[in-house]
Amino acid sequence: MTILDCNVSNCMYNADKKCSKNNILVEGREASMPHETCCSSFREQSSGSARNAVSQPKTTLDVQCKAMNCTFNGEGICHADHIGINGVNACVVAETECASFRCKQQH
Ligand code: SF4
Repeated sequence: MTILDCNVSNCMYNADKKCSKNNILVEGREASMPHETCCSSFREQSSGSARNAVSQPKTTLDVQCKAMNCTFNGEGICHADHIGINGVNACVVAETECASFRCKQQH
């Protein structure tokens, strides 16, 4: 389980800068930089719709990850203790990123 902070305030799952899902999926199979990753679990908060009132922010959650070049990736699971998802003004998945991505081969 990974501690996750998320500043994607426009995501329907965001609650107090935490995620309310039990697990997320980070994409970026070819990524070598954080901006080449994304949180594919992002769903835009549609205007006028209320957030799910029963959603509780999760302090830790399972992070499945396709960014195989990341040093924290172990067979598709994130093994970092603490990660951050960025994308303050994101409207689509591609505008989010895992800010904690670290390339195994530093450039
Ligand atoms: S962007 Fe991803 S990590 Fe952040 S709240 Fe949405 S689903 Fe959760």
